[in-house]
Amino acid sequence: MTCAKCGSPDLVRLSVLHQRGTIKSDANGYIAATGGTAYVKLHGTSQSESAIRATPPTEKNLYVWMFLWCVYVPLPLIGCLIGILGTVFRWSGGAPPLENLLGGSALAAFGIGMHFFVVKNMRRVVQWNSELYPRLLVQWRSTYQCNKCGRYGVPVAS
Ligand SMILES: [Zn+2]
Repeated sequence: MTCAKCGSPDLVRLSVLHQRGTIKSDANGYIAATGGTAYVKLHGTSQSESAIRATPPTEKNLYVWMFLWCVYVPLPLIGCLIGILGTVFRWSGGAPPLENLLGGSALAAFGIGMHFFVVKNMRRVVQWNSELYPRLLVQWRSTYQCNKCGRYGVPVAS
């Protein structure tokens, strides 16, 4: 395999580049200083610029949208209850029936609006994770960086 631009066989896989440039440090111990010792723990991940550029594609998080879905789902029901109870039974602290009806309708409308917004985003995330993400991963796995000219891309067979 050689570089498609300069023909050099000196190529590095992106996964190798990413691994090599990512350093996870985990150190601990005692530091002696004037007046005593201190226990020090260090954690961290540092990445080189080339490792950041070689970062693999990731799946998008569906749980955030699932959580939102659970939060807004009761809203239309609560809105209807406020509207019905407030209008028919004059419940809810003696507010006029019309205000209960309008308030309940607004809450229900907001819940329904949220439903379309969240479902649209859930679809997008599912589509990304099932269609685009696997393709990007395959592309990432077959991409190399040329050590000679620096080109990122799929090499040519030699
Ligand atoms: Zn090259």
